[in-house]
Amino acid sequence: MLEIKDVNVFYGAIHAIKGITLAVGDGELVSLIGANGAGKTTTLHTISGLLHATSGEILMDGKNLQKVPANSIIGMGLAHVPEGRHVFARMTVEENLRMGAYIVRDSKKINENLESVYQHFPRLKERWKQYAGTLSGGEQQMLATGRALMTNPKILLMDEPSMGLSPLLVKEIFAIIQELHKSGITILLVEQNAKMALSVADRAYVLETGTIAMEGNAAALSADDRVRKAYLGA
Ligand code: ATP
Repeated sequence: MLEIKDVNVFYGAIHAIKGITLAVGDGELVSLIGANGAGKTTTLHTISGLLHATSGEILMDGKNLQKVPANSIIGMGLAHVPEGRHVFARMTVEENLRMGAYIVRDSKKINENLESVYQHFPRLKERWKQYAGTLSGGEQQMLATGRALMTNPKILLMDEPSMGLSPLLVKEIFAIIQELHKSGITILLVEQNAKMALSVADRAYVLETGTIAMEGNAAALSADDRVRKAYLGA
């Protein structure tokens, strides 16, 4: 579904992404793990068209995303849940969700998507009239994820969903990610919490200073000595 081939990204003179190649198959949950500053967020921003790759290819269902404006990529079925959530604090939960559906014209479809989001996140339904800025961190993560789901995406890019959450909430958020995966959504998940990210993924890539250092089956990577020492605190 998503293929990234030999992609390079620079911030001025800083070579942040150095020729990475990765793929996410239809229905897969793939994790991209790595330390602070490894280039995970840059990778996601480049896929969604927020940053330009200086070379390489990014293909979704065989179509080159670099030739598609960022605001049209979402219409192709790719949605991005950004690091830090970025919910609209002075709007209610439901207004935030409806904003997520801005490219959907059919109001019946919007209402169906809203119901489906509320099924995945009953907590959001309970709080539909509450201002998003007053939600807890975990609830804001649910809202940011729900907002991305309002376009009915085929693939969801998730950036650091566990950031700043308590261990209990991290578990809850990861249970939801697994549920979304089971419902058929393809997911590319970026995480510093390697333990959780490997526990839910089918496959994973390890990003180190802008290059893919390791890749493979998530269970095999979890058992790998180098991964255990560097990322799992063994
Ligand atoms: P984190 O988990 O801390 O968000 P990350 O793996 O997502 O880290 P990136 O944010 O993609 O890493 O950063 C990759 C590299 O690019 C880092 O060295 C970072 O300092 C650099 N970088 C990121 N954004 C910019 C920018 N706007 N200008 C210059 N350098 C940047």
